[in-house]
Amino acid sequence: MPQADSTKSLSRRDFLRYAAATGVALSVAGIPARVVDAAFVGELPPTREFDVIVIGTGMAGLAAAVQAGEQGARVAILEKQLKPLFGGNSRLAGGIFAAPEARTAEAKAQFIEDFLVKGDYRTDADLIETLADHILDDIEWLKSHGVEFLEPSPMAPYRVLGYTAAPASYQGMPKLLDTMLKAAENLGAETFFQTKAQELLVDASGNVVGVRAKTSKGLVDFRAKATVIATGGFAGNGQMLEQWVGPDADESMVRGIKWATGDGHIMAANVGAQLIQMGGVDTLHIAAVHPKNTASANPFQVVPYALGINRLGRRYVDESLGYVAHGKAAMEQPGLEVALVFDQAVADMPEGQAVISNFDRLGIEIIKANTLDELAAKINVPADALKETVTSFNAAVQNGQALAADPPKAAHAVRIEKPPFYALYPLGPGITLTFGGIRINLRRQALDADGKPIGGLYAAGECVGGYFLGDYVGGGSLTRCLVDGRIAGRNAARA
Ligand SMILES: Cc1cc2nc3c(=O)[nH]c(=O)nc-3n(C[C@H](O)[C@H](O)[C@H](O)COP(=O)(O)OP(=O)(O)OC[C@H]3O[C@@H](n4cnc5c(N)ncnc54)[C@H](O)[C@@H]3O)c2cc1C
Repeated sequence: MPQADSTKSLSRRDFLRYAAATGVALSVAGIPARVVDAAFVGELPPTREFDVIVIGTGMAGLAAAVQAGEQGARVAILEKQLKPLFGGNSRLAGGIFAAPEARTAEAKAQFIEDFLVKGDYRTDADLIETLADHILDDIEWLKSHGVEFLEPSPMAPYRVLGYTAAPASYQGMPKLLDTMLKAAENLGAETFFQTKAQELLVDASGNVVGVRAKTSKGLVDFRAKATVIATGGFAGNGQMLEQWVGPDADESMVRGIKWATGDGHIMAANVGAQLIQMGGVDTLHIAAVHPKNTASANPFQVVPYALGINRLGRRYVDESLGYVAHGKAAMEQPGLEVALVFDQAVADMPEGQAVISNFDRLGIEIIKANTLDELAAKINVPADALKETVTSFNAAVQNGQALAADPPKAAHAVRIEKPPFYALYPLGPGITLTFGGIRINLRRQALDADGKPIGGLYAAGECVGGYFLGDYVGGGSLTRCLVDGRIAGRNAARA
């Protein structure tokens, strides 16, 4: 859990300003020098030959491997972890995939606009359009391999449908990944666990011709005409966070796996790939989560309807912007500690029910009280301030908005008036994923600094940059992993 003293929160604010001001400059730092073959004094490592190499067994890697296998390619899948730990952050994920609400031009346009607005129109519209074009077919493709989803449901405040891997949010991804790993193996893919890709192999023309990997028996060269990097993000790499995002970023809670260390970013940069949107806090996905279970205790569904309350008993953000805007605002609150407050009416909504049942499943207490005085005492905020915040907010609510509230709320505003009152507390900011990464084209080829494709090199999933910046559409990352993975796998197999 983040520290509670005020010096800490001051230094965090300084960090935010510093990161925002210096992000671009920081993005060039931190790439270690290329490892060169000159280090070898004996024979070169043994070689294995394939058509396609996929690095990583998360959603992006397995989508690429299965797709390439379906096209008849001989595929090698490299995974640095032990088999029981395969699947990366995809295994821990809530399992929600964002998709257009229907197969209509209007629904696709809404999906694209939501993504672009959240990225402040600084992300790649062409890539995002491919998500809208492909995701519904790609979900059907997963189903054709035996993956099960719940009935899709609306995902306010985003104008998308959320497809959740069955049986429930935060419970479905291990099954989905097991199913897709088996599908890849049934198509003939060979999996190599405890095999860490270390360096891309490049021929005299500068094309990538494979990967040098470290195994328990020493180095092995995996050679192929096409390599797909699907190594995930770098939220687990304190050094990269510090160098690229900002000097204190490595002190944030990390919601995902510790071994998301940006290996793919580094390997790609070492062969000349361009890394984009790597600098500043805009390049992080932050959610305010409960410290007892930073991965799964993310009450995202209820954020638009609740009131975010800081230690002073005050609101600090328009909650209707969604859980990532809320998480980022939480980073700037005293002690980095906030609560989400709502009443029985919100608790009775499907969104409230989803959060309550998830916290119950995780064994995390939800604070309840019959009066705001009692609630204030339980969440350590001044009672007068909390009552004044709730009263003035309620007075401002009109037709689902609270525009006169401080700060104003543009949508999903409901009066907090029906006891018992609830609080999710304490919540603190945690890094979910990193947004910056390898620049790609629509074929998912990695691009060099001149914008030209690097022969033989593809990238898919969280290691790719260009999709998100600043804010985020819930379910967006698994969607791009699946779409990227399939397109990269298809083009890699054709190579
Ligand atoms: C708690 C949590 C909940 C989330 N919930 C959602 C959600 O509901 N919806 C959503 O859209 N997004 C969600 N996200 C984000 C999403 O899960 C990730 O962005 C996505 O799963 C990344 O998938 P990936 O395939 O790119 O990488 P990963 O799933 O992280 O897989 C990368 C794999 O590559 C392996 N690897 C890395 N380096 C090497 C190497 N050098 N050699 C060999 N193997 C290597 C890793 O061990 C790992 O297995 C969540 C994230 C977290 C942490």
